Amino acid sequence: MPLRVAMLALHTSPLAALGGRETGGMNVYVRHVARELARAGVGVDVFTRRTDAHAPEVVPLDAAEAGGAGEAGARLVHVVAGPAERLEKEALPPLVEEFADGVYAFAQCEGRAYDVVHSHYWLAVEAGALLARRWGVPHVAMFHTLGDVKLRARASEREPAVRLEAERRLVHEVDCIVAATEHERQLLRQLYRVPPAHVRVIPLGVDREQFRPRDRAAARARVAMPESMAADAPVVLAVGRLEPLKGLDILIVALAEMTVRDAQLLIAGGDKRAAAEVARLRAVAAGAGVGERVHFLGAVPHEALPAYYNAADVVAVPSFYESFGLVAVEALASGVPVVASRVGGLTTTVADGRTGYLIPWRCPGPFAEKLDLLLGNAALCAALGRAGAEAMAPFAWPAIAAALRELFAALAAAAE
Ligand code: UDP
Repeated sequence: MPLRVAMLALHTSPLAALGGRETGGMNVYVRHVARELARAGVGVDVFTRRTDAHAPEVVPLDAAEAGGAGEAGARLVHVVAGPAERLEKEALPPLVEEFADGVYAFAQCEGRAYDVVHSHYWLAVEAGALLARRWGVPHVAMFHTLGDVKLRARASEREPAVRLEAERRLVHEVDCIVAATEHERQLLRQLYRVPPAHVRVIPLGVDREQFRPRDRAAARARVAMPESMAADAPVVLAVGRLEPLKGLDILIVALAEMTVRDAQLLIAGGDKRAAAEVARLRAVAAGAGVGERVHFLGAVPHEALPAYYNAADVVAVPSFYESFGLVAVEALASGVPVVASRVGGLTTTVADGRTGYLIPWRCPGPFAEKLDLLLGNAALCAALGRAGAEAMAPFAWPAIAAALRELFAALAAAAE
């Protein structure tokens, strides 16, 4: 009998388009980990809230399941909880119980028992706590971001009390928390009093086939570069959901302070709902006198992103906080140096001076200085890029999934 995991991703589907307001690293993580676990013989059902009345209830997530392999394999299950439409995250807390009931009913109907619950983000952790209790199985949680950690990184962030209170309780209710970095484990100890033994550090990963070094000129020919830009202009790329926590203002002002005057800033990310944030950032760019050199690409499909990384000279990650920061890892795996804030997971993935630079202060000056240094020295860029691509080997998804599988198996065995 294979190990069976109920993976909960209540508020966002692993198949959702990336770069929107709620779709980023967590979606990529769930998608890859579910597939890799299935490849390793684990049965994975990923449960997400149904947001489209026409979507089938069950969707295969890997080739084995599509071929009808049965017990092992990965499937996505759409669970009815509230209206079948996209809702703001703030509307979801009252639907958690209905979601948990829906997952429970699905499992009963299929006669499926699970050995472990693996939940993602606090809404799903809340549902996971209910299910793990009903099934009598261990519960492994990943919070991805925590409200108190966000507030600590940027005091003006607003987080609903219901989230803050739930997280402060849930961190003590689950059997094990998976943290992306040792730093996150320390934050769980300092801010939430979670004993370190309660936390397992397993990083997020990267697909090193998809994200690998490729010729820059060829990549530029493949992507739709802004028309106003010279074909060989120096390019700084930023990728991510568009929200203030990502610190793009700092980068835009840094562009204005750089001595490389023709550098272009490409920003990938942001769906229709990010219109207000785009307008705000455009105003920052216009105010700094670099409106012409800041290009908003909108959300770029994940499959198309490798070419953008390969087309860039440098990738910048100016975030106030990143629990892990997949973008930095994808850029490094693509052989592109990264200039990033010295915060959270970025301090464990970017090696200062070896694969990129870490900027200790959230001010534009030091960002501008390092971007100038890199854009003015192709040999340095190439050397850091090569080192970055090599350094990402331990982050390959099969290794990450293997560590999770080991954890699940140990918890399931201990619970028997
Ligand atoms: N992403 C994407 N297209 C975009 C913007 C982002 O595919 O237009 C992906 C990006 O490649 C990365 C993820 O979204 O895999 C963002 O993850 P990260 O950990 O950097 O940030 P988070 O969203 O978790 O805050």
